[in-house]
Amino acid sequence: MIGPDFPRTLAEFQRRFTTDDECRRYLVDCRWPEGYQCPRCGHAQAYELSTRGLLQCKSCRHQVSVTAGTVLHRTRVPLQLWFSAAYLVTTHTPGFSAVQLQRQLGLTRYETAWTMLQKLRRAMVRPERDRICGTVEVDETYVGGVEEGRRGGRQRDSNKSIVVGAVEVRGRGSGRIRLAVVEDLSAASLVPFVEASVEPGSILLADGWQGYAPLRKTYDYRPSTVGNPKKAAKLLPRVHQTFSNLKTWLKGTHHGVSSKHLPHYVNEFVFRFNRRRKPMAAFQSLLGLTTQHAPTTHKMLYMADPSG
Ligand SMILES: [Zn+2]
Repeated sequence: MIGPDFPRTLAEFQRRFTTDDECRRYLVDCRWPEGYQCPRCGHAQAYELSTRGLLQCKSCRHQVSVTAGTVLHRTRVPLQLWFSAAYLVTTHTPGFSAVQLQRQLGLTRYETAWTMLQKLRRAMVRPERDRICGTVEVDETYVGGVEEGRRGGRQRDSNKSIVVGAVEVRGRGSGRIRLAVVEDLSAASLVPFVEASVEPGSILLADGWQGYAPLRKTYDYRPSTVGNPKKAAKLLPRVHQTFSNLKTWLKGTHHGVSSKHLPHYVNEFVFRFNRRRKPMAAFQSLLGLTTQHAPTTHKMLYMADPSG
């Protein structure tokens, strides 16, 4: 998404958004990067209706709310506090708590901080909708237990969860990622994940596990047969690095996570990873600024952030 530029430091951020008016102007800039346009008649000028966050078309008098479709709609919390909260959650170490947020924003009520945090996190735990593409490494791992003998006994340890991952190959590094918790290692579990996560026709690098075999119908599937997990890490380095980062994050930040909550944390990890170099995209996603209901034109599609 193209839009106004994003402050690089907290100080810059705070200088820029000192009033709710400045926040509202930012919302308008996000929504109409090339200037306001009436969704009904296409007119390019509008009045701002006081502090209600409404724009009224100068030609047909149609009113648009600048917060519609965002987390900020009909909130009683000042926009400026929402902006600060989203900035902190975006730029801070993962695992920002409601207590920290309450303290940082100087909120009197803990409940307000908690509710805001929940709403902001909702954007992060929503699974990514578009599919990654190109050359993609696919593999799976156990989370929350000893890793040995991953397919050996095929016995399900109830303390362990299976996470399947797909990672774009970008030169020597990684592009976008997708991760999901799956029930087991069967084709019935693995194939739907890949189909939902990777564009058909992409090159799939995997380790030759039979659960992936049906994918050869829709993908350029290139299995390499390996028996031992150490070799797999060498042949599929990016997806293994991703698993390792995920596990470090779960342990370090969240001190381990129950299997019940794992899917949410996995989605948050994906959200953060895919926007690690794009704080503005993360900030806008958290506030819901990228899910606008404005008419979609070809130009907007072209400008859309691929990791949306
Ligand atoms: Zn109009």
